[in-house]
Amino acid sequence: MTTSIPAATCELRFDRISAQAVLIAPKRAKRPRSHDSHQCPGCIPALTPPAVCVFPEHAEPDGDGWDVRVVPNKFSAFSDSGSNLRYETPAGCKGIYDPAGHCEVVFETRRHIYPVYARTTQEVHYCFRALVSRYKSARSDPRIKFWFGFKNLGTVAGGTLEHEHWQLYSLPFIPPSIQDRYASAARYFNETGQNLYRREFEDEANSGDRVVALTDHFLTFVPFAAGMPYEICIAPRRNSADFSTMNDAELHGFAASFRDAVTRLNSVHPELAFNVVLHTAAFEHASAAWFTWHLSILPRLTTLAGIELGINVMINPVAPEEAASTLRAIAVQQASS
Ligand SMILES: [Zn+2]
Repeated sequence: MTTSIPAATCELRFDRISAQAVLIAPKRAKRPRSHDSHQCPGCIPALTPPAVCVFPEHAEPDGDGWDVRVVPNKFSAFSDSGSNLRYETPAGCKGIYDPAGHCEVVFETRRHIYPVYARTTQEVHYCFRALVSRYKSARSDPRIKFWFGFKNLGTVAGGTLEHEHWQLYSLPFIPPSIQDRYASAARYFNETGQNLYRREFEDEANSGDRVVALTDHFLTFVPFAAGMPYEICIAPRRNSADFSTMNDAELHGFAASFRDAVTRLNSVHPELAFNVVLHTAAFEHASAAWFTWHLSILPRLTTLAGIELGINVMINPVAPEEAASTLRAIAVQQASS
């Protein structure tokens, strides 16, 4: 295996000491950083590859009637026709050369600036329907093992476009850190007969100390050991490892809870940068009794420094109970649809 990678090709390497996965992705360096609506691929469909899906479904994909538009990411770290060659060097280092997979961008709205808290629940709901639709599409590709949806909002959170969007990664492997989480959840289930995630969510709902909001379908809370100030977790009250099993009422409930959480955060810290990550089980564990899907909102009020990067010990200057109490006290106006 050569050690120099052609500029158009990416490679995945696994660190055998830390078990960290690293994408060596030279072409990602060329991706645009736009804070200008005149050069924005979210505002100008002609700047992107053709859409793979839009909502509402009857809208013209490259016209102007859509609310949500999903396009392939031109600067994907993976390729549809990737050779996906797994290798091991004579010294025992492992990797995947030219990994097969997909990266997609979900433009959540046609408007360049249109924050979640300003949208209706229906508009937020279209975005989550798009995520479910793309998850199901990725699951139909036998080379794909893991699907991950996330959102970076604000420069500090890694957002390169001002226009709000989700990114969807379909990976040909389950990341090592996720495999570790699965192993401990499966072990807990085997030892106790209980789902660790469900136990955590039910304990939080019952104690109430860190609850931000509780609806028929979702619990919103600040985790007991939140690593970031005002970190929020949204968890379903009906158990499922697979977020795509939500029925329509649950999808609406999820959109309402997400909008509610972002609105509360914005009241406490206006124009806050944050990351959103959606944890749904890897395809092969989509029916696992030991996992429950959930969403995390990770505000970027602090900087990851030596202690966090060196030994993965987080420092959170706001007690989770205090953050939850502040967020809970905010009166959120009901969304208009
Ligand atoms: Zn735009």
